[in-house]
Amino acid sequence: MSDRLITIMLGFGGGVMLAATAFSLLIPGIEAAGELYGAKSLVLVVITLGLAFGSLLLSVIHRFAPHEHFIKGVDGTKSSSLARVWLFIIAIALHNFPEGLAVGVSFGSENTSDGIITALGIGLQNMPEGLIVAVSLIAEGYRTRYALWVSFLTAIIEPVGSFVGFGLVSLARSALPLALAFAAGAMLFVICDEIIPESHKRGKENEGTIGIIAGFIVMVMLDIAFGG
Ligand SMILES: [Zn+2]
Repeated sequence: MSDRLITIMLGFGGGVMLAATAFSLLIPGIEAAGELYGAKSLVLVVITLGLAFGSLLLSVIHRFAPHEHFIKGVDGTKSSSLARVWLFIIAIALHNFPEGLAVGVSFGSENTSDGIITALGIGLQNMPEGLIVAVSLIAEGYRTRYALWVSFLTAIIEPVGSFVGFGLVSLARSALPLALAFAAGAMLFVICDEIIPESHKRGKENEGTIGIIAGFIVMVMLDIAFGG
């Protein structure tokens, strides 16, 4: 795969996630908060706190989790004891857990179409993401079969995140707006700190941007077509 194609695909994933954060998490979160709490001041406090805590938690985990990105290189705390492949797995898990969380929380809202759109969008951007993981591992010298297994393993983290998100929202419906904003904050951190920098790293900023815009547009199309 060419650098150009990888950059476009990474950007595409970032664009989908960015639009999903705004349209499938934040806007439904604000609407749900309005219905549940009524008072605008309370809506403002809950949504702001959720966004801030979600991004803060992810930034703390990101800082202390030793991991390595295929393009950005070594990140987080240094680790000499972990095998390199685990550093890659942790890096991808950092993306996939908030994505899964977003899908699960999204399904917790009354409106099932919100959940379906989030799942569709995230699923769509996982295809190029998974492909990049496998191709990058092979480029790092790992065997094809092994690369496939590792890609599969990192994908498993996503449904785990979904069950956590859905479980939390089912337990306390009044916490739904907070959970939606929290997931949005977590996604925002991953998009800004990992995905956009990775898609713009190779001096292919233009392709990265085209990918982001294309991903954003596709997600908006899904939202218009299937949103209720
Ligand atoms: Zn990182």
